[in-house]
Amino acid sequence: MDDAPLVIGIDVGGTTIHAVAVDPETLDIVAETKTPTAPGIEGLRSGITATVAELALAGPIAGIGVGCPGLIGDHGVITHAGNLGIGAEPLDLPEALGPLTSGPVVVENDVKAAALGAGRWLAASEPDVRDFALLNVGTGLAGGIVLDGVLRRGWSRQGVELGHIMFDRRGPACSCGAHGCLELYASGSGLRRRWSATAADLFETAADGDREAQTIAADLVDGLAHAVTLLAYTVDVERVLVTGGVVASTPALRAAVDLRLQHDGATPLGRATQVAQRIRWLPPDTTAGALGAAMLVTESTVITEGPSR
Ligand SMILES: [Zn+2]
Repeated sequence: MDDAPLVIGIDVGGTTIHAVAVDPETLDIVAETKTPTAPGIEGLRSGITATVAELALAGPIAGIGVGCPGLIGDHGVITHAGNLGIGAEPLDLPEALGPLTSGPVVVENDVKAAALGAGRWLAASEPDVRDFALLNVGTGLAGGIVLDGVLRRGWSRQGVELGHIMFDRRGPACSCGAHGCLELYASGSGLRRRWSATAADLFETAADGDREAQTIAADLVDGLAHAVTLLAYTVDVERVLVTGGVVASTPALRAAVDLRLQHDGATPLGRATQVAQRIRWLPPDTTAGALGAAMLVTESTVITEGPSR
């Protein structure tokens, strides 16, 4: 056992708890675990605690960061994470994990935490970019925004819920209670709702001339292009990093989104704003989620204020 202090980052996903122990100075990963997620408050609390205990074998723990879906309240309690089996009753990870570390326990929305981790990947090639966003095309469609190097937690402390921006007022009902939300068209769940196979299969079938596949693929491409454009036009980030299983599954989708943005950019405003040039496709193996969770602890610039709950 080494005595150098380590910071642990934990990315709590619907199927896997991915955790890393990093050197807080260099952010080099010194240990890593992946364990299946057991849903519910008890399952998560015991699974996450066991993960920390395993990583503690690598050295003393100077802090723990957790990225988790759901609503993150004051002091890092988690509620309303449907995929994890958490409702109104809170999961209090700071209480459960506090005794395992001499430092802080910081809990944040998972996609926001992943934005910090994705920023590490971006900095390797473009170290001068200070304003960027992560767009995660997972089961839903959500984002995280970093401005001037600082993760924005926002007033409501929710994720950047791009998926629930209205895309078609006459569209079907969404789980959020509204109609025609963007993620009904441009997300993993949106794709599953309309197509029984993968995104790769959808684009192959569309290329073969199937009209239904062409419509669904066009909605998916338009929806993702819309989300990227929203981020560029509102918070004016220099880069939009796009990740998630749907976009990783087929280069045809990524090429179609690039082409859509180039086409949309062929206007005087488009030429000035260069939205198509701002997109970067994050490689699937960056460990952005767990690394970003550790950076919740190591980044002293993370804003910690939020409304009282
Ligand atoms: Zn919705």
